[in-house]
Amino acid sequence: MAKILIIEDEEAILLALEDNLRLEGYDVESAKDGEQGLSMAQEGKFDLIILDIMLPRMDGFDVCKQLRQDGIITPILMLTAKSQEIDKVLGLELGADDYVTKPFSPRELLARVKALLRRSKQVQQGTDEISFGDVEVDFKKYEMKKAGSLVYLTALEFSLLHFLVQNKGQVVSRDAILDEVWGRDIYIQPRTVDKHIAELRKKIEDDPTVPKYILGVRSVGYKFSE
Ligand code: CA
Repeated sequence: MAKILIIEDEEAILLALEDNLRLEGYDVESAKDGEQGLSMAQEGKFDLIILDIMLPRMDGFDVCKQLRQDGIITPILMLTAKSQEIDKVLGLELGADDYVTKPFSPRELLARVKALLRRSKQVQQGTDEISFGDVEVDFKKYEMKKAGSLVYLTALEFSLLHFLVQNKGQVVSRDAILDEVWGRDIYIQPRTVDKHIAELRKKIEDDPTVPKYILGVRSVGYKFSE
């Protein structure tokens, strides 16, 4: 069963999360401050990290950034409390994969957890490697290189790219992308897809304004082309 690390300092939320996740059969460990959470997460043995933002010692933004800098690719679900935090999480340069806003229902949280875990598993099971132009992607290792240099992609971006690559040459709709990458139980606005596609293009394309690989098909969706 999947191992989940919860980094949260509010006792009541932490206990509720632990209970809910254990009831679903997950193996749960927890940390109550950012530094402790970071060092546990750095061991790399978790399948998912649930990370609060306002934390003693080191905040969730810094924990997230540090983990990505260290090459830890474990999917991260952020817990946000304020709209300023959501904006920052959505800024994506941070490397978080998804977020839920407090207060959240256990059902919503579990749906997000399941979707994130399912996504990373799909990437692990599908096409291993692909190269196009000067881009090389190893989906098993979550590694991407452009012109020989490593480029950091979030787990969500890997998942998105993977889905497009699996459907090479075909147009996939925003809805199909939402179902596949985010999961059916989750409500996300279709424009979220566009935002993540834009981030992915910046990393993959020579000129993101004139994409060669991830083509937009007006009002329908996207198509991967070599
Ligand atoms: Ca907190």
